[in-house]
Amino acid sequence: MPNKGTILIIEDEENIRDFISTSLRAQNYKTVDAKTAAEGMTLAASLCPDVILLDLGLPDMDGIEVIKSVRAWSMLPILVISARSREKEKVEALDLGADDYITKPFGPSELLARIRTAMRHGAVAAGHGAPSQIFTTGGLQIDFGKRLVRVDGAEVHLTQVEYKIVALLAQNAGQVLTYDAIISHVWGPYMDDNNRILRVNMANIRRKLEKNPAEPQYINTEIGVGYRMAEEL
Ligand code: CA
Repeated sequence: MPNKGTILIIEDEENIRDFISTSLRAQNYKTVDAKTAAEGMTLAASLCPDVILLDLGLPDMDGIEVIKSVRAWSMLPILVISARSREKEKVEALDLGADDYITKPFGPSELLARIRTAMRHGAVAAGHGAPSQIFTTGGLQIDFGKRLVRVDGAEVHLTQVEYKIVALLAQNAGQVLTYDAIISHVWGPYMDDNNRILRVNMANIRRKLEKNPAEPQYINTEIGVGYRMAEEL
């Protein structure tokens, strides 16, 4: 069986660490464990793993420090393991350069999906593999070259701003993007009262794309954090 990649797990709770490494090894990933932030930073530098899974509550220092340290020299994908209802912490981690997060408790299929997404984005960021020209998820199709959006084969007319938001989310499908990251990409960093304008645009986008805008299947809200385009439907 070919090795799918090396995953560094930085997590001090033994049962979570064991659950993660067992799930990943069963799918032919190679795993390496670290119990402290210091150990994790050393292993990250010496191994250059394909993905780092990082718990933020570590015994020797905050996991946030690991993100800062790794981002000083590498763009390798960092997936944060976070407790439920720690939105502030998630946003801080994402704004400092973490790629995504997974909320405890999580199952193996969610973990594997996040790792596949992180590895794919890592490969594109490193220049191996080009981002595709056409994005498809379920009945939604976006042709970036032609700036065309279709739902179940029918063309959907989006405003310039709506298209920018949808295209950005699609280019990062499977990963959460924070409200601030979307706003600064679409309007620039000096926009005031921007969360409200983003919400208004998202309501219009959902009305145009979703069968039931109240229960969106393409663009999900991560409450208090941002939006995530579904990658696999
Ligand atoms: Ca912990």
